[in-house]
Amino acid sequence: MVTVKGHVDKETCISCGLCPDICPEIFSMDDDGKAIALDNEIPDELVESAKEAEELCPVEAITVE
Ligand code: SF4
Repeated sequence: MVTVKGHVDKETCISCGLCPDICPEIFSMDDDGKAIALDNEIPDELVESAKEAEELCPVEAITVE
């Protein structure tokens, strides 16, 4: 089985808030103001929106794989 997880590079994130808007089930804003991805496997039905967040992040801080 393929496990898909999201990751946010906090060094790169500019705190724009877009990813929790697109996929709030996986991404949220951490206490430090940077985005963070849930450290769980992304369920099939959410992979598409997680990938959308990955594509639309203005600084490409997100990896979904
Ligand atoms: S979309 Fe990218 S820059 Fe914006 S909050 Fe999410 S990770 Fe940070």
